[in-house]
Amino acid sequence: MAIGSTEMMIIMQEGATAEEVERVLELLSSAGVSGYVSTSDIATVIAVAGERDVIAGLPLEAYPGVDKVLPILKPYKLVSRDFRRSDTVITIGGSSVGGGHVALIAGPCSVETREQLMEAAAAAKAGGATMLRGGAYKPRTSPYAFQGLGVVGLEMLAEARAATGLPVVTELMDPRHLDAVATYSDVIQIGARNMQNFQLLSAVGQVDRPVLLKRGLAATIEELLMAAEYIVREGNERVILCERGIRTFETATRNTLDISAVPILKQRSHLPVVVDPSHAAGKVELVEPLSLAALAAGADGIMIEMHPHPEMALSDGAQSLDPEHFKRVAARIADMVRWVGKKLG
Ligand code: PEP
Ligand code: MN
Repeated sequence: MAIGSTEMMIIMQEGATAEEVERVLELLSSAGVSGYVSTSDIATVIAVAGERDVIAGLPLEAYPGVDKVLPILKPYKLVSRDFRRSDTVITIGGSSVGGGHVALIAGPCSVETREQLMEAAAAAKAGGATMLRGGAYKPRTSPYAFQGLGVVGLEMLAEARAATGLPVVTELMDPRHLDAVATYSDVIQIGARNMQNFQLLSAVGQVDRPVLLKRGLAATIEELLMAAEYIVREGNERVILCERGIRTFETATRNTLDISAVPILKQRSHLPVVVDPSHAAGKVELVEPLSLAALAAGADGIMIEMHPHPEMALSDGAQSLDPEHFKRVAARIADMVRWVGKKLG
């Protein structure tokens, strides 16, 4: 369901019945405003979209089962912690992300050849990854750089999934490729450069696939949450936020990992938060310390670029771990996951 200008939140009493919720929804629709119901472990909450004056004139608080009616002050609503107190847990294949479950996503920046991908997939699996990544459509700064294999790359990803059992994360850049990407992948990635491509966000909001939404290069935390809101308001609640570094004046790293974004996103939103240390740092030697820091800060997952032969990679070789290095980093990540009291997958 699409929400226009959500203004109010109706908190139902603990133990409110389905009939009571239904009566509130009927009142809302008779007044021409729409209600969006969320049931969590704490309470049933109805977000109300419509004119503030119309909503204010409704006798909502007199209805049985209604506890209180509150204005929503934040510009994002459905992704907010105010809307849903408990963590959203997204289950993909046999593993989960969020609510104490940590994802370890690994694989090459780009799908280059069948051999390269199958080798990377086997190494990801051997190192304990819970998902495989690989781009078939690549957003490249130079139009002359490798742009990805397209559908052929998607087919290879599906083959790698069949061989390893790992669910596949891959980027979508163009709504025209949505059907193909949704058909072959388990999670659709929206890259940093497209975080505010609102038509693309609405398009992935209409498919039944989890979305990994990367923070834009110069986007604020609030802008990231607003982008997630675009997806969720179309009906797709399975959004994973990804901090991947932002542009700052610092040149020692490719981007600056905004570690504080992790606890802030967790406070403000119920959605899981994954950190990509590879694009944040741009350097292999920083992947381990940034991964550990991200988990200590509360991240629900880590996404790492790994290539069987980084020196031959067609994109992002300088930040791609080789399989042996990945295995060592993955073991430290597994230790840290235990230390913070969570579990991998
Ligand atoms: C990627 O994941 O390979 C990628 C292009 O990332 P970003 O959009 O964060 O730059
Ligand atoms: Mn990359």
